[in-house]
Amino acid sequence: MSHELRTPLNAVLGFAQLLTGEALGDEARDNVQQILKGGHHLLDLVNEVLDISRIEAGRLSLSLEPVAVREVAWHVADLVAPLARERKIVIVVDEIEAGHAVVADRQRLRQILLNLLSNAVKYNRPNGRVTVTFDHVSGDRLRIKVTDTGGGIRPDKLRLLFNPFERLGAETTSIEGTGLGLALSRGLAEAMGASMGVESDMGRGSTFWIELTLSREVAATAPEAERERPLQSTTARPGTLLYIEDNVSNVRLMTRLLARRPTVTLLHAGDGESGIATARDRGPDVIFLDLHLPDMSGEDVLHHLWADAALRKIPVVMLTADATPAQMRRALASGAAAYLTKPFQFSTQLWKITGLEKG
Ligand code: ADP
Repeated sequence: MSHELRTPLNAVLGFAQLLTGEALGDEARDNVQQILKGGHHLLDLVNEVLDISRIEAGRLSLSLEPVAVREVAWHVADLVAPLARERKIVIVVDEIEAGHAVVADRQRLRQILLNLLSNAVKYNRPNGRVTVTFDHVSGDRLRIKVTDTGGGIRPDKLRLLFNPFERLGAETTSIEGTGLGLALSRGLAEAMGASMGVESDMGRGSTFWIELTLSREVAATAPEAERERPLQSTTARPGTLLYIEDNVSNVRLMTRLLARRPTVTLLHAGDGESGIATARDRGPDVIFLDLHLPDMSGEDVLHHLWADAALRKIPVVMLTADATPAQMRRALASGAAAYLTKPFQFSTQLWKITGLEKG
């Protein structure tokens, strides 16, 4: 279902994004912003509802591993920083030793902390403060606490907080949200063997916490692709890109996006078999490959490409609307050079991976 829901939405967001680059009048520009805002809100809702239903059906796939607490906390604080700056809110992450690790699914722990930190900013007062602290609660449990200086939550409302779609009156304010973040965060936390809770002081602020099991092993560092790399000046290189995708609207979007990179020639194939044939005939510099194709899966295409010595050298970027972390790891393990989730953003780093841009 996730693919069916996200594909049309990606078209809405992708084409609206393209319009922002056009010379539009003020009113039209504002209309496009409204489409983008509504579209992103809907995408958040779809993602969260799908995650909640996966949890309820017991079909959430998690990969538990030792995750470095400091690294995750800093990363999430960085993500929230622009929103905090806008509201003149200071975020302080407490000291914790670099080696401290908890047992968690890295992506999902990030998602939970991102929700808690962005709430702590959204529901704070201007010029407020958000503090992330760490408490050893018993021998092998660590509590990560996110404290804000907002208005706090009434004691009788506290038990409603984690109900789906409950916004406790925030729906009548201009603060954006779906009312699903906390319900989802608690579901995710419990699925990872962690627990979540809240304490609040009316007029002074709230503390949301997540408690996880400390790992005895040292945390592995984040995969290479997730680490920030210094931006270098780059130069575009002419080349051919083969896009294997059956969805017409995605192909049109790619055509328009690539029109801004005239050095890249786009080839298109609508299914796996013709994709492999085109790769053989034309020897593209890079292949962008959709995961869901009418005749075979993107992973099958990847295996066929890898079975051919001449094609194995071509970097393949997997594109999908609904990558789970497990799918992502599988694709990278089977040789994909990179993984892009729709609606996709072309970064300098991506072009470098494809070899169509040199450092
Ligand atoms: P959303 O923020 O999308 O509305 P959440 O599930 O994250 O949804 O939160 C549910 C509701 O709980 C929010 O709408 C808000 O009313 C309240 N809330 C969440 N975090 C805080 C906080 N730090 N301070 C005060 N109220 C909060």
